[in-house]
Amino acid sequence: MGRFHLLLAALLALLPAVPAMAESPRAPVVILVSIDGFRADYLDRGVTPNLSALAASGISAAMRPSFPSKTFPNHWALVTGKVPDHNGIVSNHFEDPRRPGERFGPGNSDPFWWNEAEPIWVTAEKAGIRTAAMFWPGSDVAWGETRGTRPEDWQHYDQAVTPLQRVETVLDWLRRPEAIRPRLLTLYFDAIDTAGHEYGPDDPRTNEALTKADRYIGMLVQGLRDLGQPADLVVVADHGMAAVSSERVIALDTIADPALYRVVDTGPFAAIEPAPGHERQLADALLKPHDHMQCWARKDIPARLRYGSNPRVASYFCLAQVGWQIAPSAPTEPSSGGAHGYDNAAPEMAALFVASGPDITASGRIAPFDNVDVAPLLRDLLGLPPAPDADGDDAPFRTALRH
Ligand code: AMP
Ligand code: ZN
Ligand code: ZN
Repeated sequence: MGRFHLLLAALLALLPAVPAMAESPRAPVVILVSIDGFRADYLDRGVTPNLSALAASGISAAMRPSFPSKTFPNHWALVTGKVPDHNGIVSNHFEDPRRPGERFGPGNSDPFWWNEAEPIWVTAEKAGIRTAAMFWPGSDVAWGETRGTRPEDWQHYDQAVTPLQRVETVLDWLRRPEAIRPRLLTLYFDAIDTAGHEYGPDDPRTNEALTKADRYIGMLVQGLRDLGQPADLVVVADHGMAAVSSERVIALDTIADPALYRVVDTGPFAAIEPAPGHERQLADALLKPHDHMQCWARKDIPARLRYGSNPRVASYFCLAQVGWQIAPSAPTEPSSGGAHGYDNAAPEMAALFVASGPDITASGRIAPFDNVDVAPLLRDLLGLPPAPDADGDDAPFRTALRH
C-alpha cells in the first residue's frame, strides 16, 4: 500500500498544474437562437455545415410558423407557446380598439401591446432562473401589469450590433461566475431575412448570407466548447421566404374605392378597416371572388389559420396566394425579392428548427410541428412545469428528450 501511494504521488507530480480554484462542472444552459427568415429547406443546400453538424448530433424539422408568418407574431409565439391570435401580437403592424388612433409597430415596447401572453423569460425569472436576451422581439418590454419584468440582461434592439458582437456578448455572459450566470439565453440574427427580402430566397447572394450566418453558429459552438459550457441549443426561424415580383401585385384601389377604407397593413396579406358608414360597400367589394387573393370579415377567417378571435385583428382581412402581394395601389417601378406573411401551411413559409445538447438524443429529422410547441420544449429543458393554457405541447420532442 505504501509503495502504491508513493507511486501515485510521483505520477500526480508529473501532471500539469491544476488551478487552485478549479471550478466545479458547469450546469447546462439553454440557448434559444433565432435566425430570422431562415426557410426550412435552406438547411438542405449544403452551405451551412455548422447547422448541419448540430442537426446530425440532435434533431431537426421543418417547423410550421403560426399565422400570420411575420416576424413579431412568430417570435412571440415561440416564447409564449401561444398563436398570435392568443398572444396578442397579431401582426407586425396592428391596432387595438381600446387605443383608437394608435398603431403597434416593431420597436414599440409599451407593455400594453405585449401583456396578453407571458414570455418564457418572465416565467423563468419568476422561478428563480436567471435569463439574458441578446435581442428578441419583446425582450426589451417591462412585462406585466405592475412590477415590469425583463430578462436580467437585455439590450435595446440595434441592427448595427454585429453578429460577432452578439455571439461574444452571449459568451461573455457565460464567462461570469455561477451566481450571476444566465441559464436561459436568447440570441437573434437578422441578416438572412434581410438578404431574403432583398435578393429573394433562390439568389446566390442569399446562399452567401447563409454561409456567413452559419459561421456565427460555429463560433458560438466553439466558444461554448472552449468554456466547457454544456448547452442545449435550440436554433429556430420565425418563418420562411417566398419569391415575389412587381408583376404579381394586387392593387387594392382597383378593387374598392380608397374612400371606403383605411389600410392597416399590406404585403402578403392586407388588414383593412372600413371608413365609418361604409362597412356595407366595403364588404361588397372585398368579399366577392378575386384572382390570387381571398378576403374575409374577421369572424369568417378559416379556422385552420387560428386567427380572428382577437379584436386586434382588423375587421377585414385579405390573404394573397404565395408569391403575390397586396398593395394600396399598383407599383410604379419594377422590383423583385422575397416576402413572408402567407398561409402558415405553405412550404415556402416553413421555418428552421434544429436542437442539440446534453438533454437531446441524436434522433435525426422529426416530423413537422407547430412553432407553439417550442416554448413547451424550452420549459422541459429548464425543468419548468407545462403551462396550463398553452396552444402547443412537447409531444414532438418527447422521444428525443433525455430526461
Ligand atoms: P419583417 O418585417 O417581418 O421582415 O421583420 C424583420 C425585421 O425586424 C428585421 O429586419 C429586424 O431588423 C427587425 N427586428 C427584429 N427584432 C427587432 C426588435 N426587437 N425591434 C425592432 N425591430 C426588430
Ligand atoms: Zn422575420
Ligand atoms: Zn422579413
